[in-house]
Amino acid sequence: KDSMENYKFKAHTSKVMEIIVNSIYSNKDIFLRELISNASDALNKLRFLSLTDSSILGEGDNQLLEILIDIDEEKRILNIRDRGLGMTKKDLTEKIGKIAESGSKDFIDKLQKKDDSIIGQFGVGFYSVFLVADEVTIYTKHYSEEEQDQLIWKCNVSIEDGNENIQSGYTISVDPRGNTLGRGTTISLHIKEGEQYDKYLKHVKLQKLIEKYSRFIDFPIYLWKSEWEDIEVTATESDDDQEEEQSIDTESEEEMEEEAEKVEKEKKTKIEQVERWKWVLMNKQKAIWTRPKSEITEDEYNEFYRLISKNNEDPFIYTHFIAEGDVEFKSILFIPGTIPFGSFERFNPKIKSVKLYVRRVFITDNFMDELVPQYLAFLVGVVDGDNLPLNLSREQLQKHVLLKKIKKMITKKTIAMFKKLLVVKDLDDEDALEQRDKFWETYGTNLKVGALEEKDATIKKRIRELLRFKTSKSGDGFITLDEYIERMDENQKKILYIGGTNSKVLMSSPHLEKVLKKDWEVIFCTDPIDEYLFLAFRDEKYKGYEVSDMSKESIDVKEISEKEKKKIEELEEEHSYLLDWFKEIGGDQIDKVRFSKKLIDSPCVVSTKDFGVSARMERILKNQAL
Ligand code: ADP
Ligand code: MG
Repeated sequence: KDSMENYKFKAHTSKVMEIIVNSIYSNKDIFLRELISNASDALNKLRFLSLTDSSILGEGDNQLLEILIDIDEEKRILNIRDRGLGMTKKDLTEKIGKIAESGSKDFIDKLQKKDDSIIGQFGVGFYSVFLVADEVTIYTKHYSEEEQDQLIWKCNVSIEDGNENIQSGYTISVDPRGNTLGRGTTISLHIKEGEQYDKYLKHVKLQKLIEKYSRFIDFPIYLWKSEWEDIEVTATESDDDQEEEQSIDTESEEEMEEEAEKVEKEKKTKIEQVERWKWVLMNKQKAIWTRPKSEITEDEYNEFYRLISKNNEDPFIYTHFIAEGDVEFKSILFIPGTIPFGSFERFNPKIKSVKLYVRRVFITDNFMDELVPQYLAFLVGVVDGDNLPLNLSREQLQKHVLLKKIKKMITKKTIAMFKKLLVVKDLDDEDALEQRDKFWETYGTNLKVGALEEKDATIKKRIRELLRFKTSKSGDGFITLDEYIERMDENQKKILYIGGTNSKVLMSSPHLEKVLKKDWEVIFCTDPIDEYLFLAFRDEKYKGYEVSDMSKESIDVKEISEKEKKKIEELEEEHSYLLDWFKEIGGDQIDKVRFSKKLIDSPCVVSTKDFGVSARMERILKNQAL
């Protein structure tokens, strides 16, 4: 007992755990998925380390990279064991001892809103054990030789006034039995009392859960269970009599002899069924991305998505492809059905959903920047390189030239998925239209960022073609720039746009009186990023077309005839006293006052200078500076 040390959870951790324990999650089943995924992570890490130092794998049973699950129904114990890298005392206090390091308020809010999509995504993973267990013990032995002790971590849930409470801390001690594990970790759960929990002590239930959530796990998962087996047993005397009677009516003597011999043999080896306890393999672990597409069902893809995204919904769309040429790899990529929590924080290091493998060996899910451009950070999937070297350090691999090519390919394939959903050919296909709008609502902003940030000119062009905007004629819908150009008035030379908060306000903007009267279409930049895009188009043009900000001063003068221009000049001369008077009132805030052809009903309008930022843009910039 002397060596037992008590630790307290961080305040934040207790809070999150309290919420978890008090069962806001409807789906308690997921605890097993989380434990298996941690075991698989631990095995992956060990396998990765062993690439550069094969002695790490050890000898004998230690070399078996597998996951073992067994239950003791009577004692209400469920054990999950792996021969992964194990944990040090520091790991136990720092990694198990605290959760959701981000510590953001957002996170707690989400938890309280019963959004279980974040379990797993933010490292609450392990704590899901408290959905089903009232006592959790971790036995662990780290792979390194310096860590000689096998450690025990223990935490209880106590019942107070009918409410379950996680105790404010946990204990860590050295296992008095010595090193029984060899290497790795056993998580031992004492399953809560109560009928609703009994099922977690039944093999059928566990088998179903493994099937459902973990069948694509890379390592063999074994369940300790009894199976009925055919075994050969020697027949008894009484059986003998029966057999003989049956063979009476055979014809010739020869046949009779043959028959007798056969019977003789059979009666010595009769097949009987007996119950046997053994480790039964639960998963096939053939990597799904290595299988031919034609053999994989939609269900399997979706299930695989749920496994790697730890999300409970289906993806919007996926792509499965093999790249050949100077870079060879297989990949499956998914666009999530809802944008993953946290990916709006564009540089969130916790987002790491594209996993890099090299010839089936998991390398890392932390190469986000090297594999996927920031604006596609929501992507989920796997990339398995065939011609990447295995024995490089992470840092060396990170700089490998082939990664750049992989990134480009991933980007292209993802934009192709966007195109598939955003370009609907059959306008009577209402499902497709609805899907398109939902998709654009979810990922439109990401695509706009891509249209600005993408460095590859071809990809950038493809992205720009997919962008959708509200216009003075689009109502609640959106149109692309190509559609805009197609329906432009023949006298109209430029793409017209204006920034504002919403279509309704913009429709009555005095800046647009004239053009709307002419029945020309104007693009409404209602998303703050839209105006940045049009600033880019101002420099680069869109397919050769110039763009014009309708809130700028000279928009009218450029569109009118010489004769009209002359008339304006005359008017300005005649009424110069009026213009001067306005200028005097405005003082510094006004650059110049002049007659305009922009207006029809309104008496006046305030425009911004041609070469400055628009008024709205100025507001956006000001807000960003705060
Ligand atoms: P995540 O898996 O997202 O990191 P978890 O809460 O599931 O979050 O696990 C927290 C950490 O605990 C892991 O990152 C890992 O360092 C450690 N851990 C959990 N289970 C194991 C295990 N079986 N073997 C080794 N380390 C583990
Ligand atoms: Mg985990």
